[in-house]
Amino acid sequence: MTKLKDKIQGEVLVPGDDQYEGTRKIFNAAITKRPSVIVVCKDAQDVSEAVMYATENDLEIAVRGGGHHVSGTSLTEGGLLIDLSQMTTVDVHKESQIVSVQGGATLADIDEETQKHGLAMPTGTVSETGIAGLALSGGVGYLRGVLGLSCDQLVEANVVTASGEQKVVNKDTNDDLFWAIRGGGGNFGVVTEFKFNLHLVGPEVLAFNVMYDLKDGMKVFRGLNEYLMTAPDEVSVNMTVMDLPPAPMLPEFLHNKSVMVIAGMYAGDADEGQGIINPLRKLAEPIIDQTGVIPYTDLQKKLDPMVPQGASFKGTSLFFKDLNEDTFKQLLEEKDKAPGGLLFQLWEMHGQVNSVPADFNAFSVRDSQYLLLLDLVYEPGNDKAADDWAEKFYETFAPFSLNGAAYLNGIDPDKDVIEKTYGSNYQRLQEIKAKYDPHNVFTRNHNIKANQNV
Ligand SMILES: Cc1cc2nc3c(=O)[nH]c(=O)nc-3n(C[C@H](O)[C@H](O)[C@H](O)COP(=O)(O)OP(=O)(O)OC[C@H]3O[C@@H](n4cnc5c(N)ncnc54)[C@H](O)[C@@H]3O)c2cc1C
Repeated sequence: MTKLKDKIQGEVLVPGDDQYEGTRKIFNAAITKRPSVIVVCKDAQDVSEAVMYATENDLEIAVRGGGHHVSGTSLTEGGLLIDLSQMTTVDVHKESQIVSVQGGATLADIDEETQKHGLAMPTGTVSETGIAGLALSGGVGYLRGVLGLSCDQLVEANVVTASGEQKVVNKDTNDDLFWAIRGGGGNFGVVTEFKFNLHLVGPEVLAFNVMYDLKDGMKVFRGLNEYLMTAPDEVSVNMTVMDLPPAPMLPEFLHNKSVMVIAGMYAGDADEGQGIINPLRKLAEPIIDQTGVIPYTDLQKKLDPMVPQGASFKGTSLFFKDLNEDTFKQLLEEKDKAPGGLLFQLWEMHGQVNSVPADFNAFSVRDSQYLLLLDLVYEPGNDKAADDWAEKFYETFAPFSLNGAAYLNGIDPDKDVIEKTYGSNYQRLQEIKAKYDPHNVFTRNHNIKANQNV
């Protein structure tokens, strides 16, 4: 261990060290895995040293960006954790409209810097999420209709591979790896820095947030589907179904109420957008309508207070191509059987996100209509009930989904979804895995099995 400490600019922590417990924890409190060593990296060289130390000492590697994956793949039991939480620098190159982002940055870190220049890249909808995990397996947010996924805007990355080598990866250099990391997750190495394209967005945008009584759920769903048939790419809609808690921050008439929220953004001129999004405000009689022109950075943080901190979570996900009313009704019925509080979301997918071919990069799901994301918040210790319910839920609805494909950023890696999700891209990913990580050094992810016969 002394040998490792001598080589690392950052910190090396072991159980018993003061900072160990706090550094070990991730977003999902249900994941209690304890690494035997945590390397809090300061730079790419620290990451290389950590990878080489782990492989020499036969330690399982976990890599942590923002630590937000519900399945806890960013922790390891007894292995070595590469913690990137100190690598959060974001540099905007205004002339070229490119942003350089270190591998431990959050979405808030990016928006804060890019919006100083009236620029943005597509990310996600909760600002505390890490960009690394999010972008490596997709990245779905309010700009998806006009700019696609986060991974679609990647132009270059610095990657530490299984041998500890630091590689620059772009369309001209290591182009196979460049293709694979845009959707293929953390399978191929540790990304220490990303470079993404930036676009003019904000600083103020038209955001809609309309709450309906779930009693009107079918009517809202029907109206939304009709609306989406002709909606322009600038509109992105996230539908959330939930039972509101009896929280003091909410007016009493909303306590324990089942509601459906239609929220999103018009990614174009706000004045023009008002008329275009207006039908979304009249799908039924709204309970609350918070539609308005707000700073883009406020929109990006709007959901943060809704996310419980220090709670136990279980997540699952599916993509749908033709989500009909019967299946939607059944989804609502299953929701009521959940052993805990449920955040159940359907995000409609149209526009740029679906306009590139499936082999544009590794993220192959380019023809879905809705992305279903389920997050169950449950009492500590209730893991089995939560696991069983999520499993049953997945099995019930997988037959209606788009070839069983799931959003890998929202589902456990032990589910049988990896090949189904990558579809025709899977074989190419296996070949690239065999080239860059033949011994599966990077295994704590939605693991692609190396194809050694190439
Ligand atoms: C509250 C909440 C809100 C969310 N909202 C959205 C949303 O709006 N849109 C969306 O698309 N997704 C969303 N997600 C899902 C999110 O994309 C995933 O949880 C994602 O994995 C988070 O990335 P992270 O870096 O925080 O995760 P981590 O848990 O740190 O990492 C996830 C995976 O990526 C690997 N990894 C992390 N960093 C690196 C790196 N630098 N190099 C190589 N591999 C790495 C890890 O080893 C792990 O396998 C949300 C999740 C939560 C919990």
